[in-house]
Amino acid sequence: MKPLSAVPSVPAFAPGADTLGLAAACARGEFQLQHCEACSHAQYPPRAACQRCLATSLRWRPARAAGRLLSASWLHHSQDPHYRARLPWRIGLVALDDGPVMLAHVQADIEAGAAVRLHPGLDRAGHPALVATQAGGAGAREGKLALFGNAVGGRRIALFSADAARREALLAALTQAGAAAVACLAPAAVDTRAMAEADIVIHDALPTDDTEDRGDGDAYPTLRAHLQALLPAWRQRGGEPPLAWLGLFSLDALLAAPGWPLRAADQAACRALCQALRPRLAAQGIRVAELIATPAGAEACWESPAARPAALAGAAIALLAAGLESAAADAGAQRWLQRWLADPALAQRQCGQQEDFPPDWPEPRAAR
Ligand SMILES: [Zn+2]
Repeated sequence: MKPLSAVPSVPAFAPGADTLGLAAACARGEFQLQHCEACSHAQYPPRAACQRCLATSLRWRPARAAGRLLSASWLHHSQDPHYRARLPWRIGLVALDDGPVMLAHVQADIEAGAAVRLHPGLDRAGHPALVATQAGGAGAREGKLALFGNAVGGRRIALFSADAARREALLAALTQAGAAAVACLAPAAVDTRAMAEADIVIHDALPTDDTEDRGDGDAYPTLRAHLQALLPAWRQRGGEPPLAWLGLFSLDALLAAPGWPLRAADQAACRALCQALRPRLAAQGIRVAELIATPAGAEACWESPAARPAALAGAAIALLAAGLESAAADAGAQRWLQRWLADPALAQRQCGQQEDFPPDWPEPRAAR
């Protein structure tokens, strides 16, 4: 067998545009099915039209990620070099509780007829990958199925953070999760060796606690310089490709809080840069992920206190392990993320409704 570094790091098969809605949900760890607005039929695989009535008004809706394993097979041959290097590979047909039958990656020890739970996630190229495990059991990313996750165990991590409390919490969580090595660096640091060696990079772009001057917003220039150094360093590394880049952003990246205009623009710019880089890095098998947290300050606007460092660190480890692209770090951020997903314009109105914010434009200050 060839060493894994000699085979493509992403699958050759790319699903069509009809699958994008499923991919967007899977990237958040959510399972959704296409529903026909004309006849209420729930269908899989995704299509441009309803399989029952041919209507084209289809909407993605949350579905139960549960079903029964109809049959499963061990694949011993594959046309795809990415999976050929990892054979034998187990796949199976799952009859979903919501109706359709779906092809899934199946955990090794489940027998046909068993009740299963589906774990929505992504393959190395960022396309939807549904994994079936025993209902009531754990471990969707064990054995060969670890391919879809980015667990930190045994991995080399580069951690870029300027905040002492968050850095210490992340370091403790990464160490406890079994990371092989963690290099702690300032966000603007350019350490090309540590960058090249890192399997996973975590960049803390969360704003500092500037409740007095409301933040000039200088995370973006730092992040841009960081990525301009990291990407060439990663290209020059030999052997296995890196696994993931995780950015920590605040809710300001999604919604502009009144009274914090510079911070909102800065965080939105950070997030946009990473969104734009995602397809390019996905083609190399590298996951670009974001963890959204409630920031310090503007509590009246966000309705909840800032994310605690320990909770933030735990959420970061879980997001990486599940192989997802996006998650919220705390309950407040999760609430606003759901509002934003449901209706971004309405969420912006709700965010801007608070009157308890400083009325004046913040004074500019020097970049840190
Ligand atoms: Zn229909």
